[in-house]
Amino acid sequence: MTTRITGRTHVFALLGQPVGHSLSPAMQGAAMRDQRLDAVYVALPCSTARVAPLMRALAEAGGGGNVTVPHKGVAAAALDRATRAVERTGACNTFWHSDGLLWGDNTDVSGFRGALRDLLPAGVGGASVLLLGAGGAARAALCGLIDEGVSRVVVHNRTPAKAAEMVAAVAVVPPDADATGVPSDSPIEVSGALDEVLDDSFDVVVQATSLGLAPADPLPLDLDRLRRPAAVFDLVYASGGTPLVRRARASGMRAADGSEMLVLQGAAAFQRWFGREAPVEVMRGALAAR
Ligand code: NAP
Repeated sequence: MTTRITGRTHVFALLGQPVGHSLSPAMQGAAMRDQRLDAVYVALPCSTARVAPLMRALAEAGGGGNVTVPHKGVAAAALDRATRAVERTGACNTFWHSDGLLWGDNTDVSGFRGALRDLLPAGVGGASVLLLGAGGAARAALCGLIDEGVSRVVVHNRTPAKAAEMVAAVAVVPPDADATGVPSDSPIEVSGALDEVLDDSFDVVVQATSLGLAPADPLPLDLDRLRRPAAVFDLVYASGGTPLVRRARASGMRAADGSEMLVLQGAAAFQRWFGREAPVEVMRGALAAR
């Protein structure tokens, strides 16, 4: 089914640099067609300086969009109204217009939580977690883990100072209103050496570095070094699973890549734009067909 462009068609866009590899246009386009919305979704490569004016122009014209690397921080600063998820992460990945104001959310947080619950159907609350990374994705994951009420998070990042900075920044803003768990007093630790923490016992490893995107990347950690098998959630996505996910499954561990998180963050964005539930199965199908 093709989209018939009319004089009233609303334009939604992914703003980033680069954006050519993104699966969001296929996924959101399929959802818009399924719901017979007079809307299109395109990818717009843009410089940092163009992010704020583009967001405002698209939203004021009745559309909206998403923001990706490296502009999520600039997008957060451009908003008139931000959700708690934006305040906690310092990042905005979804924007729209309401009551004459530019609104923004970071749906990576809810997308992460939904995908993690899928991976751990017995429950996330009380889990002990090793979180790798301290960039934008790790920040969303850390907020999600706190909201799910995990008992402990050990954060490891190549640059330890960035991990400490992330933990301090996330800790100052209260959890999201729909947080299901109450975190214990001090559930977050920053670790310098990965070798040392691997002797600890974890229920789940959350991989939120960009390792796994390039074919030549090393695995982010040696799963054989874990004291006991853990579930593995790699936020990077790849057809057939990332190398870390394939390695974990080969060892009998539960593992998921970032595909379901991508779908669920997109579904939450769709809900923000149109005020209705997204056709999640259609979105999953559009991704699977790529
Ligand atoms: P980012 O802000 O650029 O952060 C990159 C992270 O990776 C940093 O912690 C960085 O460590 C680490 N890193 C990079 N190269 C490394 C290496 N060679 N060895 C060890 N660590 C390395 O990126 P991001 O926005 O957090 O995105 C990270 C990944 O998450 C991307 O692959 C992205 O596709 C994925 N993601 C997925 C979804 C989804 O919906 N599934 C959503 C968002 C992001 P330093 O601090 O030391 O530089």
